[in-house]
Amino acid sequence: ANPQPPAETLTVMGAGLVGCLLALYLARHGHSVELFERRPDIRGEAKVEARSINLALSDRGWKALEGVGIAEAVREVAIAMNGRMMHGTDGQLTFQPYGQDGQAIYSVSRAGLNRRMLDLVEQQPGIRVQFDQHCQRVDLRRKQLEMRDETTGEARIQPFQRLFGADGAYSAVRGAMQRTDRFNYSQQYLDYGYKELTIAAGPKGSWPLEKHALHIWPRGQYMMIALPNLDGSFNCTLFFPYEGANSFAALQTPAQVRSFFAEHFADALPLMPELETEFFANPTSSLVTVRCFPWSHADDVLLLGDASHAIVPFYGQGMNSGFEDCAVLAELLGEHGSDWPRIMRRFETMRKPNTDAMADLAVYNFYEMRDRVADPRFLLQKKIEGKLAAQYPAQWLPLYSQVTFSQIPYAEALANGQAQEQVMQRLMPHIQAEADYERPEVQALVAAEMARRS
Ligand code: FAD
Repeated sequence: ANPQPPAETLTVMGAGLVGCLLALYLARHGHSVELFERRPDIRGEAKVEARSINLALSDRGWKALEGVGIAEAVREVAIAMNGRMMHGTDGQLTFQPYGQDGQAIYSVSRAGLNRRMLDLVEQQPGIRVQFDQHCQRVDLRRKQLEMRDETTGEARIQPFQRLFGADGAYSAVRGAMQRTDRFNYSQQYLDYGYKELTIAAGPKGSWPLEKHALHIWPRGQYMMIALPNLDGSFNCTLFFPYEGANSFAALQTPAQVRSFFAEHFADALPLMPELETEFFANPTSSLVTVRCFPWSHADDVLLLGDASHAIVPFYGQGMNSGFEDCAVLAELLGEHGSDWPRIMRRFETMRKPNTDAMADLAVYNFYEMRDRVADPRFLLQKKIEGKLAAQYPAQWLPLYSQVTFSQIPYAEALANGQAQEQVMQRLMPHIQAEADYERPEVQALVAAEMARRS
């Protein structure tokens, strides 16, 4: 009989959100996994992050977490956000539900989630995780990694058999692939940066704003958002132009920051006692969309998560789509065993159109959140869409719900959403107020549109 080939070790680069989930899925399919992470172990006592950063987790992410049995543990530390709470310049609040009753997206701490996943990774037989391991270069031809130990400064060569790049938007694994023939790559920056700020907890850890909402201060050319934390505080993100009259470049002193917030975010300012300190201490970070193809190299290297498709954060889908990558790959592992050439080919051809669509949707949502959500006509359109969805549930699912509360492939969701937007463009000229939806002539138009769609 033929001797068994030696068991293959799979190497995962990056123990961020996607790398950890991927390692869990691979190990549960019986593979032996070596996981490398550049940073120190974030669970160490001394390394508690100064700032809490949270992310919105939605259905695709939950489904992928369920696949390795960790959704329940995450749910315990997640806060449901049932809709958007818009804050007008006059302090007026407008609430817009995200979906049907009971549907929500969930605010989770990035560090908390990553820590929980690292605990599971360490408990999982078959995974070996090593921290402070910085991949500096990948030699694709020799199948070698140039690693640097960040604690000792020592460099070494580490061979790999099969490599998964989950090392984020500035991936070293992708960097090596970018130098191979016929590798397509693009990166596109917005003229906007972002800065993380904090709304402090109220007395006795109470929430000074509605807890179960994602708060938005839409201001046309810029906006601020806030997501709730478990301790009563909110993590705010200011999305702001780099240059121009209202921009990071224009706010150079604490007094300028204070007076800007007093004018444009008046209801938030009293809740931000550390504003000026944070504004100058926290970095201004950029917003990039990365696209590339292929995602695999010679059947033994594969990119996942932000390494292959980093997107701007306005749909709250970056992590969710990276998690969905892991679930899709696991399904292919179930179907094709260890036929890696086939798995990699199918994975990249299935996922690429969907993550491209998601990248477009994310940029689109930036404009929607920044200026359209402050427009009464747009809000009316959303309400009418809600009525359409309630009246014709089999034929109409709002685009946001398709992306956030369903598993419909992103590319299909985008196409459906564009077709639905055209219907709305035809209906809205006949509608001036919510009640107009019930008028017989409008109902006749709606019925005709629905007949066309079915
Ligand atoms: P990363 O999280 O970047 O992890 C990569 C890991 O690899 C890191 O641990 C890193 O240290 C390690 N690494 C990198 N290079 C090397 C190297 N050379 N050697 C060894 N290790 C390395 N997504 C959502 O779904 N919902 C949201 O609400 C949301 N909000 C966001 C808000 C902002 C402001 C931003 C910027 C992003 C947001 N995202 C959101 C997107 C989300 O953060 C990313 O999509 C997600 O973190 C991608 O996970 P990843 O594991 O692929 O990459």
